[in-house]
Amino acid sequence: MGVHFHAERESDVSPQEADGASLRAQTGTAKYRTRQGGADKPATGEAANWDSDSEPSATVARRGRCRHPARELFQSDYVKKLLRYHFLAVAILPTLGSMVALVLALREGVGMLEIVSLLVAYTLTFVGVEVGFHRYFAHRSFQATTALRLGLAVLGSMAAQGPLVYWTSVHRHHHAFSDQDGDIHSPHHFGRGALAAFRGIFHAHMGWMFEHAIPNAGYYVPDLLQDRLIRKVNQHYYACILLGLAIPALIGWALTGTWMGALKGFLWGGLLRIFLVDHMTWSVNSICHVFGKRRFATRDGSRNNLWLSIPTFGQSWHNNHHAFPWSARVGLVWREVDLGSLAIRLFQLLRLASRLKEPSAEMIAARERELVSS
Ligand SMILES: [Zn+2]
Ligand SMILES: [Zn+2]
Repeated sequence: MGVHFHAERESDVSPQEADGASLRAQTGTAKYRTRQGGADKPATGEAANWDSDSEPSATVARRGRCRHPARELFQSDYVKKLLRYHFLAVAILPTLGSMVALVLALREGVGMLEIVSLLVAYTLTFVGVEVGFHRYFAHRSFQATTALRLGLAVLGSMAAQGPLVYWTSVHRHHHAFSDQDGDIHSPHHFGRGALAAFRGIFHAHMGWMFEHAIPNAGYYVPDLLQDRLIRKVNQHYYACILLGLAIPALIGWALTGTWMGALKGFLWGGLLRIFLVDHMTWSVNSICHVFGKRRFATRDGSRNNLWLSIPTFGQSWHNNHHAFPWSARVGLVWREVDLGSLAIRLFQLLRLASRLKEPSAEMIAARERELVSS
């Protein structure tokens, strides 16, 4: 089902759905992809741009200016409907589950089962999203063995933030257009005043998911489309979510032998965990593009926030990330807590990860000087 996020079928894009250049772009995109069997190869060298060692941010910026609209975005009624159902499910079901968990906690108290289920499931899922989807698949900031790639892809899918190919396409598009015209989840396109600011933050946090054009996976993630294992995980996105709900329920049942134990595992390790993981991830798009400190003169509104650094596994050093998106380390000094980087180092110790990319002290100092002189 996950692949349908990318409108693989020609019929997904109807000529009546859009107008002008946008219409030609969307229709052209769908036909191009369909003719190529859904895994069209980009022009020579494009795939390499996303995992290049040399200043990928500059490459992305160039791509942002030099657009090929016929290949970048598309929209259709089918995709709109799918996005809305997915958004409503992700916004409503984990919220309801969290409320039930809270009511149960008030009636019966909170035991070790609930706390351990939540902490373990939260950590595994956040590593899947932040280390896997984000630093590995979207930015190629290190190399991983097949076992780690598979594990990260499945764990990240359990966050219910969309299939891997879709997630990565949207994220690479975010870096190509960050806070410029065309950025899908920028908080800065709603005008001035308090109401506009609130609307912008809500849009960046979760509102954007209700309806948006889809970045063309053939253009943004050709490397993932060529990866058979990743295509398989992508297709089993909903099964991964169900697995992420079933495992804590089964563990709760196995440990207590009661239905209440299964329910608590399901609620705390499943729905409440998805609720917290998703809102923490989304807060990077909303809060960390509006509030906080700037250390580097990036062309976007990204900012660093200490207080979100632990729950976001280091991604709240978001200004650092936009300055060095290809870096495996987002916290750049010891006091910038970065649990994602610690996880990658652990994988390196276990010989599951290698060739970590990190900016040198000179590169960091040079970028800092840009802020002073700007
Ligand atoms: Zn950002
Ligand atoms: Zn990123």
